[in-house]
Amino acid sequence: MTSLPQKPVPMPTPDTKEFWDGCSQGILRIQKCEDCSSHVFFPTLVCQECHSDRLTWVSSSGLGEIKTFTVVRRAVGAFAPDAPYTIAIVALDEGPQLMTYIVDHKESDVAIGKRVAVAFERRMDSYLPVFKLV
Ligand SMILES: [Zn+2]
Repeated sequence: MTSLPQKPVPMPTPDTKEFWDGCSQGILRIQKCEDCSSHVFFPTLVCQECHSDRLTWVSSSGLGEIKTFTVVRRAVGAFAPDAPYTIAIVALDEGPQLMTYIVDHKESDVAIGKRVAVAFERRMDSYLPVFKLV
């Protein structure tokens, strides 16, 4: 009997540790620029709007909307048992967008513009931000 490969897990770096620690605590942390007030995601060293390096970590509301999505019907490797599953680009209310899973939904209920809220899904010893319809 062959075993399925394991799904990849986060490998925090000094630049992303705050984000992943937040996920483990049930908090979606993003960065905010102290110079132009833009919210920034993914974790980075400089603001994507004004290139300032004065970024601080803040808690996101965890709320947003689906900008686009796809339903994966034929997955491979460790993801095969999960199909069909929904991957989406979610725009947080603070502005940044992230690629994520939409979980616990009827496929026909997912649509562009639908409101979502963050949840956290355990994978091994890590937690991944996923979103649920609200
Ligand atoms: Zn900025």
